[in-house]
Amino acid sequence: MTARILVVDDVPANVRLLEAKLTIEYYDVVSCHDGQTALKLAAAEKPDIILLDVMMPGMDGFEVCRRLKADAETRHIPVVLVTALDGREDRIKGLDAGADDFLTKPLDDVVLFARVRSLVRLKLIMDELREREESGRRMGVSTDGAARLRGSGGRVLIVDDNARQAAKVMEELSREHRPVIETDAGAALVASRGLIDLMIVNIAAQGFDGLRLIAQIRSVEATRHLPILAIVETSERPRLLKALELGVNDILSRPVDSEELAARARTQIRRKRYTDFLREKLDYSLEMAVTDALTGLHNRRYMSGQLRAFVQRANHGGDPVAVLVLDIDHFKAVNDGFGHDAGDEVLSEFAVRLATNVRAVDLPCRLGGEEFVVVMPDTSLEDAHRIADRIRRDVGSAPFRVMGGREHLTITVSVGVAASLGEGDTPEALLKRADEGVYEAKASGRNRVIARAA
Ligand code: GH3
Ligand code: MG
Ligand code: MG
Repeated sequence: MTARILVVDDVPANVRLLEAKLTIEYYDVVSCHDGQTALKLAAAEKPDIILLDVMMPGMDGFEVCRRLKADAETRHIPVVLVTALDGREDRIKGLDAGADDFLTKPLDDVVLFARVRSLVRLKLIMDELREREESGRRMGVSTDGAARLRGSGGRVLIVDDNARQAAKVMEELSREHRPVIETDAGAALVASRGLIDLMIVNIAAQGFDGLRLIAQIRSVEATRHLPILAIVETSERPRLLKALELGVNDILSRPVDSEELAARARTQIRRKRYTDFLREKLDYSLEMAVTDALTGLHNRRYMSGQLRAFVQRANHGGDPVAVLVLDIDHFKAVNDGFGHDAGDEVLSEFAVRLATNVRAVDLPCRLGGEEFVVVMPDTSLEDAHRIADRIRRDVGSAPFRVMGGREHLTITVSVGVAASLGEGDTPEALLKRADEGVYEAKASGRNRVIARAA
């Protein structure tokens, strides 16, 4: 995962050091020594992260940060303020200026890379979201992903048996989020499968093995992507490294600093929100790919895949699969007489009658136009014929009300039926036999069902 990082520091030696460290890790580094240039570079180079020194002559880091966050062009770029070791005041000012994260000098490599990785991930997700919103706007759909960012606080699971520390974390997070405390790893494991946006684990806990808990969380599909913040004893470097290796998203050093905790929790929860949002969108587009937009029935693509599987099963000794092909009679006359919208209403109502007259395991689909198919697993030709005739009667018996109930149209349908023949049969041949049934039904007067045995 490569990314472009803008490093801003008035001391050239600091810039060179950071450049060297980041370049070794394959990051693409751009740098400068003052605030004005930083603003220009941020707009021109579109970095993925900005590491910004606080103490600089002229425009200081806070002011640079404020301006970056005030500009729509650069607002989305994560800003990491680099502060002095005792920079508590600076952190509060930094948060007010809109900073996303902090690093303290002297920089610890492991901590530096943990932060950079975490923010690069967040940035990538945000870019993707912004892109989708942009294309959504072009298509005239509002996705309002930005609302996710503003969304109310997150659900945080604090796993810690150090009562004082847990209480402090709880108190700080309660301002913005909804935290709960678990003091034992088993209970935490159960709770992690619930609706949680962030888990904070004390890996210096006495009563349980925090690293083991993290490994368990990461090994389960349901919680693999749950953001984890580890509270670490900086002096216990091997454990800190192990935690990062196991995939914690970020670390907090003891004693936990309130502002730092708030900033890190916010970053992780934001990322979680975005990821959830994108995943939902993905589910939605997958659904769109297999669904007919007008009727909500399955589409041809979905039907083909399913039918192929059922025919294969039937050919290998499984139960037969039957298909109905249904074509509305004189549908063109509906469009011609009442308009295309009325035609669409008839199609929607037809889909409802179709779907309500088949079993749950059957797949009603719209192939396109006024042509529909029902795939019926484990169904003989005779049973399929009976069901087809029930549908035909239901369609023809009650008029279709369209145009706000002003028109009542009598609709009829012609249906062809076929069932799989076992070895050697194909979905194409099966559909062709049913099609021939439709043709015969049309030719012999419409509003009827014709089953083709072979
Ligand atoms: P037949 O009894 O022989 O099936 O006659 P028909 O009029 O139903 O068949 P034909 O294939 O001649 O006409 C189908 C019409 O369906 C023509 C086309 O404009 C219309 N059509 C196709 N898709 C849609 C749609 O999505 N909405 C609407 N309203 N009409 C559609
Ligand atoms: Mg400086
Ligand atoms: Mg027709």
